[in-house]
Amino acid sequence: MSDWMKLSALEMGEALRSGKVTSAELVEASLARIEALNPSIHAFLAVDAEGARATAKEVDELRAAGADLHLLAGVPVAIKDNIVTEGLETTAASRLLEGWIPPYDATVVARIKEARLPIVGKTNLDEFAMGSSTEFSAFGPSKNPWDLSRVPGGSGGGSAAAVASYMVPFALGSDTGGSIRQPAMFTGTVGVKPTYGRVSRYGAIALASSLDQVGPAARNLADAAALQDIIAGPDHRDATSLREDAGSMTDALGESVENVVKGLRVAVIDEILAEDYDEDVRANFERTLKKLEDAGAEIIHVSLPSIQYAFPTYYMILPAEASSNLARFDGIRYGTRWIPTDNPTPTVNEVMAYTRDQGFGVEAKRRIIMGTRVLRAENYDDYFGAALRMRTLVREDLEKLFEQADVYVSPTALSTSFPFEREVKSPVEAYLNDVATIPANLAGLPALSIPNGVDAAGLPTAIQVVANQREDARLYSVASAIEELVAEDVVECRYLDDYSVPAPARADREGK
Ligand code: GLN
Repeated sequence: MSDWMKLSALEMGEALRSGKVTSAELVEASLARIEALNPSIHAFLAVDAEGARATAKEVDELRAAGADLHLLAGVPVAIKDNIVTEGLETTAASRLLEGWIPPYDATVVARIKEARLPIVGKTNLDEFAMGSSTEFSAFGPSKNPWDLSRVPGGSGGGSAAAVASYMVPFALGSDTGGSIRQPAMFTGTVGVKPTYGRVSRYGAIALASSLDQVGPAARNLADAAALQDIIAGPDHRDATSLREDAGSMTDALGESVENVVKGLRVAVIDEILAEDYDEDVRANFERTLKKLEDAGAEIIHVSLPSIQYAFPTYYMILPAEASSNLARFDGIRYGTRWIPTDNPTPTVNEVMAYTRDQGFGVEAKRRIIMGTRVLRAENYDDYFGAALRMRTLVREDLEKLFEQADVYVSPTALSTSFPFEREVKSPVEAYLNDVATIPANLAGLPALSIPNGVDAAGLPTAIQVVANQREDARLYSVASAIEELVAEDVVECRYLDDYSVPAPARADREGK
């Protein structure tokens, strides 16, 4: 029997509809692969075999009875572990939430259940989605299926690694500064951050509420579009949810490259391109740009000086919002409680302090401290206030950019996947890896990453495409043309039974 996990999500849906496979078989194939590969890749923090099997059984019975089912009913999916799932442990990769069984579903999860996709488990991340490598997960890092000595990116490295290693065809992530897009690049997969408000944040454990957005991770754009179509749309439980109909991303795909690209105005922002990219990341980006130009796109080079300040602005706003969002995890109102061992009669404040000390990892502590500093009354105007004003400038400049361009593009991250320990040893260097992805979060723009080649070591590179607010459909349409244009440059992650001895895509791995 051929291995079903090689199929894309849409192909699985088709195989289900034509009766070639049952959902039960797909779920077993997914669970078997997780069981075989998770010990080395560690993409999953929790596996829900029972829940996934129950949904599969239901789908198979309904299908047998001739019920009208969703296109993807019965196709296995995974959920990043900072998105709450009723009855299934949700930890945000923090010891503070270890063992927590949520009493309700996030809206995106409820919608996935409504479409009857079996949820096979919860994927690993940096604690509370703070990080770029999953090394800040309290439960140990995930590994990159392309090379187990390297990180899968972060914070959504678990979802990206699960998708890249064919444990599931697609998964949900969350993106506050690049946590869906950067892992997509590192693992040679597709990652999409929809327009802010397009997808409900209800039940997504907040990192920085004004930046967070839930979105899909997949191995191709069509699967990402299909998943976004399930989760997007208005939600009265999220006050920042856009009220209008989300439209169909799937319908935005499938136009000919010529139709999409001819006359397309593609901006390149000097200040984003001036960053310190790996040579191959830059070379592959230039190659893709050339292909767009040859296909009839107009490449517009623009200077947006405010973009230089997007990075420091983000690292004021994110810690400020994070410190306020994480304040609830004090062991009194919320989260696991630690009682000081050497103090039998602690005060409430002592319990809270001890709980936070024991419960939060080093990166979470770093950001909480940064955030409270930024928010102190005597600093507020100089730091947080200044960052808010800067954010407005960035947003206005980008708005103006979209008067003369349809999309802007950049490499997704400065470097391809890096070895373990780098982020832990020099966090600021790792922060910098997000310079290209952060502006879209500050301005609420829809943005995605698709693979566009490999570097000399055989590790995937990617191009980021960003569109104007609410233009998610255009984003998908342009990206799908690019996906076709770069198809010959892209190497897919190999379908292996054992990723511990990955064969590099190219022989030359020296000097990396
Ligand atoms: N790497 C970024 C950070 O650490 C992205 C976080 C995210 O998008 N959740 O802040």
